[in-house]
Amino acid sequence: MTDDEQGQATTSSEAELAPDVAGGGQTGPAPTALPEGPVLVIAAHPDDPDFGCGGSMARLVLEGRRVAVVVVTDGTEGGEDPAVPDAELRDRREGEQRAALGELGVHDVEFLRFPDGRLQPALDVRHALTRAIRRYRPATVFAHDPTAHLFEGYINHPDHRAAGMAALDAVFPSAGNPRAFRDLLAEGLTAHKVKMVYLFYTAQANAWIDIAGAPLERKIAAIGRHESQVGPDWDYAKWMREGAAHTAKEAGPDAGLEAAEGFRRIILGD
Ligand SMILES: [Zn+2]
Repeated sequence: MTDDEQGQATTSSEAELAPDVAGGGQTGPAPTALPEGPVLVIAAHPDDPDFGCGGSMARLVLEGRRVAVVVVTDGTEGGEDPAVPDAELRDRREGEQRAALGELGVHDVEFLRFPDGRLQPALDVRHALTRAIRRYRPATVFAHDPTAHLFEGYINHPDHRAAGMAALDAVFPSAGNPRAFRDLLAEGLTAHKVKMVYLFYTAQANAWIDIAGAPLERKIAAIGRHESQVGPDWDYAKWMREGAAHTAKEAGPDAGLEAAEGFRRIILGD
């Protein structure tokens, strides 16, 4: 995707590649550089919000921001026992997601329940996400990077790519164009322009959010609530700490970060 194709979008300049942090010397979490206003996280499966940006959500809540989460699929392929009824796994995972978000201080979550494992960036998904954006009216949207496909040792889940694509399509142009999805006007959902997008699960991070301290601890607690996913044998806390430290190094030595989440940031306008 080029800037021209995205119309109003501009990507971060070199000068803006600095970490999204205010820096050290503060006892609490430093304020992020996110624009004023609510934050909406759009993620494919229960647990993706927390793995993708759980530390940042915790930090934003500590800053006093309103954070809401939309989970796009029903999570019914998040297991390996074909005998478990879909509704049972769905309800369990939604309960885990609510508990996880509770650890982060996030209480506003919506489950769209598109079928897990079969998500396409189709118009019905875009429509549902446009409705969510117009309802929550976020200044900043966190979502999957839909261009991230192949990592060393890991193929990005097709639902992640589809959810990311649909989220970006909803951000631009649908949510901000009064002529798009005009049926939503009848629900009182007028057009809304998102100012900034932070994409997680990315190979092209250009912005980092400091999650050292309480935000990282809350993220680890949140991940632990996804008991159907993390299993008893995985030392996820160690994995999370090492991952956050590794990501912090990617921000560069000048940033002085010890634990971070990295994002591909797209600045859409004021
Ligand atoms: Zn996922």
